[in-house]
Amino acid sequence: MALETWLPIIDEASCTGCGDCVAVCPTGALAMAGDLAVVADPESCNYCGLCEPACPVGAINLPYEIVWEE
Ligand code: SF4
Ligand code: SF4
Repeated sequence: MALETWLPIIDEASCTGCGDCVAVCPTGALAMAGDLAVVADPESCNYCGLCEPACPVGAINLPYEIVWEE
């Protein structure tokens, strides 16, 4: 499957440019491009899922769910 299939999807219309997702991303995959968050380094994304809940306006959607098992 193509890498792009699993990358975070950032809704440009909703993004306020707060930078929270960039701050929380542990791999530096996300960056700000002006007032918009972008997946600047897709090869670095480790699919940790931290960026989705970090976004205060719900602009980030991951194309998968993370399920924790005991
Ligand atoms: S899933 Fe994790 S590594 Fe990938 S962009 Fe989001 S916070 Fe960064
Ligand atoms: S956390 Fe959400 S609103 Fe803030 S820069 Fe990232 S995508 Fe945009």
